[in-house]
Parts: sequence; structure tokens; C-alpha cells
Amino acid sequence: MIVCRTRVELFPRIAEWKRAGVQIGFVPTMGALHDGHLSLVRVAREHARQVVVSIFVNPTQFGPNEDFSRYPRAPERDLELLERERVELVWMPDASEMYGHDEQITVDPGPVAKVFEGVVRPEHFRGVLTVVAKLLHQVQPDVAVFGQKDAQQLFLVRRMVADLAFPLRIVEAPTARESDGLARSSRNVYLKQVEREQADALWRALSAGKGLIMRGERSLAAVERSMRDVLASVPGCDLQYATVVSETGFSACDPLAPSGRLIIAVKLGSVRLIDNEKYEVER
Ligand code: AMP
Repeated sequence: MIVCRTRVELFPRIAEWKRAGVQIGFVPTMGALHDGHLSLVRVAREHARQVVVSIFVNPTQFGPNEDFSRYPRAPERDLELLERERVELVWMPDASEMYGHDEQITVDPGPVAKVFEGVVRPEHFRGVLTVVAKLLHQVQPDVAVFGQKDAQQLFLVRRMVADLAFPLRIVEAPTARESDGLARSSRNVYLKQVEREQADALWRALSAGKGLIMRGERSLAAVERSMRDVLASVPGCDLQYATVVSETGFSACDPLAPSGRLIIAVKLGSVRLIDNEKYEVER
């Protein structure tokens, strides 16, 4: 497995693969890898001969009061896991390699970056899309794999790739979950034991809402209420949003569209958790 920390190391490798015409699959991550990340690597492998994983904790997507400095980092363990997955190349730049000292141009993430996650994290998606654009230019993949786990991010990456004509395909990979339904996340290590036990409430709420829709409910308010009721029974759970959005515009619609996504964000103690689940009903 090749590990590149500078563009000088990375670019000749990518150029060689491009010249040879081999398909490159790419999985961008912030490290502290778990089974969810590794499932993305396996999806990338289905689409490409060479798999590149990036590990970069991107400072520009964290707000001033967020967890950038204490975000979990485990580079050696990450490299071992990726070696076991037979990843061909790991791209691990540091912040000074990724950002010059006077960068002025960023990706404007548009109106969908202002709702849901964007309300709590106003500059988050500008940071995400800007670094994803840079990573895609550096790695030049044919296919890039993103998790459904971060549904709004996935929606915006798809929009950026379409609207700015990036020459690659975005593939979405299903959410890997713990046995009680909690979506795997690098941030789950922040949960205290009692919070960890309560955290299955997100999956229970999504399942309750989806169950209602699948039984024929089309009222947005009724589905929102069913999710809220589950979360309200959890002491200390601060609900930020629980609603249903369309796949086409990532906006709430009433009555519900035949397909869409239930989305939830809560704060359990000091830990913010997000999750979502797709639904599709027969028309
Ligand atoms: P992160 O390291 O959190 O930035 O995530 C890197 C990629 O892994 C993103 O595309 C995430 O959506 C995806 N991801 C994170 N958690 C999961 C999970 N539990 N299942 C599947 N993909 C995930």
C-alpha cells in the first residue's frame, strides 16, 4: 500500500494510473475508521481496480465551537485497516499541504447548505464541498463513494458534481449500523455509557416514521410526530430536527412524495448525532 503525504508524491502515481487507463475509485474520509468507512472501500472496489482512500481532518468544515482539535485521530490503526482491505493508495496530506496560506476561492454550496445541518453549522458545507472539490482534483477518480449516513452532504456533493461538471460518478453506500441500529460514526466514542444506551432511539424513531409511511400515511405532520414521540421518551435528548425530505430537492414536502428520506438530528448530552433512512412506496 502506497502512503502519500505530499502532492509531489501523489501526482506521479495518479498520472501513471491515468496513462494506463485503469479505473480509480475514491473514498474520502476524516480517519478514525470504522466498519462504515471500510464498507465504502468495498463498494469502491466493485467499481474500480485501484482504490484510493484519503484521510484528512478538514479544519474548514468545523465551526469555531466544534470538535476539530479533539476529533478522534488514529492514523496508525487506520493504515493497518486499509492495508487489510488491500487499498492501493492512502492520501494523507496535512493542512498546510491541502491549503495554501492565502486561499480566496471556495465552493458556494447553494441554498440547501442553509437548512437542517446548515442551521446549526453555517459554514460546514462550504468547507466540505471545497475540500471535496480539491480532493477530487488531486485524486482524479472515475468513481467516488460517499455514505448515505451523511445524507445532506451526499445530496450537496451530487449537486456540485452535476452543476460544476466534474467528470466522475458518485456512488452512495448504505449506512453501516451497530446491532441496536445506531449508525456507526467516529464520534460515537464521545458517548457516555448511558448516552450510548439511549442512542438507539434515533433508529427507533426512523423505523417508527418509516413504518407509518409504509402503512400508507402521507401527512408530514403525522410522521414527524411519530418520530418526535419516540425521541421525547429519552431523558436528556435535545431534538434539533426530525422530518421527511424529498430526494430531489432535500426539502420537506406535504403530503409526502412517493420516495424520500426521513432525517433526524439530536443532541444527547454534549454529543450531536444525525441519522436518516430512505423510503419508497408503490405509486
Ligand atoms: P467521515 O470520516 O465521517 O467524514 O466519513 C467519510 C465517509 O464515510 C462519508 O462518505 C460518510 O458518509 C461515510 N460514513 C460515515 N459513517 C458511515 C456509516 N456508518 N456507514 C456508511 N458510511 C459512513
